[in-house]
Amino acid sequence: MGKFKPVVIVGAGVLGLTTASVLQDKYPGIQITIVAADVPLVPPVAERERPSPDYASMWAGAHLRPTPGADRQLGDEHFLARRTAAVMKSLARSNPESGVQEVDGREVMEYLPEDKQRLKTGDSYVGADDQFRILEAHEIEAGGVWGCEYKTWIVNVHVYCRWLLTNFIRRGGNVVQRRLNSLDEAFDPSLFPSSPSSSPSSSWLVVNCSGRNFDTDEKTNVIRGQTVLVKNTYHKTATRHNKDDTWSFLIPRPLGGGTIVGGTKQHGDWGTEIRPQETAEILAAAAKYWPDFVSKVEDFEVVMVNVGRRPWREGGMRIEREELGKGRVVVHGYGAGARGYELSWGAAERIAGLVDAGVVSAKL
Ligand SMILES: Cc1cc2nc3c(=O)[nH]c(=O)nc-3n(C[C@H](O)[C@H](O)[C@H](O)COP(=O)(O)OP(=O)(O)OC[C@H]3O[C@@H](n4cnc5c(N)ncnc54)[C@H](O)[C@@H]3O)c2cc1C
Repeated sequence: MGKFKPVVIVGAGVLGLTTASVLQDKYPGIQITIVAADVPLVPPVAERERPSPDYASMWAGAHLRPTPGADRQLGDEHFLARRTAAVMKSLARSNPESGVQEVDGREVMEYLPEDKQRLKTGDSYVGADDQFRILEAHEIEAGGVWGCEYKTWIVNVHVYCRWLLTNFIRRGGNVVQRRLNSLDEAFDPSLFPSSPSSSPSSSWLVVNCSGRNFDTDEKTNVIRGQTVLVKNTYHKTATRHNKDDTWSFLIPRPLGGGTIVGGTKQHGDWGTEIRPQETAEILAAAAKYWPDFVSKVEDFEVVMVNVGRRPWREGGMRIEREELGKGRVVVHGYGAGARGYELSWGAAERIAGLVDAGVVSAKL
């Protein structure tokens, strides 16, 4: 047994991988096993390898599009997003091979929600020095009533998750690819064959970054997302939020990953099939709103049509410590919805904070 109690992390999405990284930083030498049904593929991810629609981290754009803290949940998420932005921007500078890059962001809205009304040029939107600026009326494209520009960050999700995984293994982490039938199975002795304990239940602590908690939490649901990956590369991240609550967005993926053209956000829609009508609408809207990208739909070089399910949870992420009895302790970190990358570092640090007591008290 090492210096700290070992940890099993369920899930190799952005939350599981980031939490593993934070724990390895905090507790050098800690034994961590990630057990996950799906693990990051080697990029570029091809059509024939199509990840599961429930492995949300493989389907994200991903970018940070800040949401001001209009209520308690959004206020808390804004805090986590700002912390994450600080880490992501620092990574973009120190480790560009991670697939993270700083870029300009632009948003246009066809209606003006209350939380945006309060904002003014010069406010801190994403974080310090984000050069936030409200667009003048004449700068806003037809149909829009509010717009802004700012400095933000984007991620090539395949490169980034693989980078996190490689670092985890390089620092002594262990990975078991296995689908569990329940969280109980994360206490299975075979996950730590070297553990000398005959009572595995309390021998290690489990961190639950499974996205939707095995669908046992009544507060969880999915937000279906269909997007299109194109080879064409746009130079910034752009979002348009329409009156009917539909979205159009362009999210370039660094290191030659093309651009995600999106997309749908369909709450409670579990459909995993590709819908050709949606693909056509997504591409047509992008050509209409961003003619500086492509002037007609035929100019898009489509690589893949994506369908993923965002692991949403009413009230926001569950970051909580739970005693399951017989000495078994689990720290939950799931339900990030449409914001898993945006919140990742802030959330992982909070999850790791709840792990502290469990692993440090076992210090020999
Ligand atoms: C189309 C789309 C666009 C998005 N764009 C953005 C964006 O721009 N910015 C942003 O921040 N977020 C975005 N998201 C959301 C983001 O992808 C998710 O919030 C994030 O990936 C959730 O990460 P996670 O680690 O919690 O879950 P996941 O990535 O879903 O990972 C869950 C892990 O748990 C494992 N697991 C689950 N069940 C079991 C089981 N029974 N046994 C073993 N292992 C299990 C899985 O195999 C996987 O490894 C987008 C999502 C979609 C679908």
